[in-house]
Amino acid sequence: MDGENKASLEAAIADLKQAQRVLVITGAGISADSGLPTYRGVGGLYDRDLTEEGFPIEECLSGGMFRQRPDITWKYLYQLESTARGAGHNAGHKALADMEKHFERFTILTQNVDGFHRDAGSTDVIEIHGNIHTLYCTACGAEEWVTDFSHLEEIPPKCEACKAIVRPRVTLFDEWLPEDDVARLEHTVAQGPDFVMSIGTTAGFPYIAAPMIHAANSGISTMEINPSETEVSAFAKHPIRQRGIDVLPKIQRALQ
Ligand SMILES: [Zn+2]
Repeated sequence: MDGENKASLEAAIADLKQAQRVLVITGAGISADSGLPTYRGVGGLYDRDLTEEGFPIEECLSGGMFRQRPDITWKYLYQLESTARGAGHNAGHKALADMEKHFERFTILTQNVDGFHRDAGSTDVIEIHGNIHTLYCTACGAEEWVTDFSHLEEIPPKCEACKAIVRPRVTLFDEWLPEDDVARLEHTVAQGPDFVMSIGTTAGFPYIAAPMIHAANSGISTMEINPSETEVSAFAKHPIRQRGIDVLPKIQRALQ
């Protein structure tokens, strides 16, 4: 760590120690430290513009495609889930879970669908894009928890009760965010977090960037942990150009 980064981290920790209500925003970067690719990385699609079906990956993973060609959407959902198989939460997730007890509120808003924050032990998690392991029937609503898609008998899987197609409770591209989670996020923001940190996300979605921007404009301390600059970097009082897996355990130890 260079001198400037070290000073910045110390200043960030000093602010965090004064905080009582912390909002943490996480994205693909924190799970990438567990070896997971982002959507664009699915099936090695990173350098290609279109999937073999001739659509952009976002279109394959969209609600519109799921209604018309659930087989295509499921193919990529399956690939997405398979890349996470055998991977688990890392030291970054664990450090966040361990930090929780030092604060009155410690809410994690995550865009990740891998469930790693809950697995690590965090109790106040808003999974704004859902959780890939929760499957539900599109007709009767029956829900089941599937940790490993390779155990599914067919793709797309069918409901045991009514034989309709089943899908994960994730927000596909072009779909609305889940109402309950949006309400929880609004409630958390309304309570006025006194420290906001953004970790491993480019914050490309407006609802992900908004809490950082709002905090910065209200004079609330903000920290960004990301190796490169992002949409919210300008709003970070404490920009830490490192990976979550490296810096979060240091912060957690400093809170002891
Ligand atoms: Zn059903």
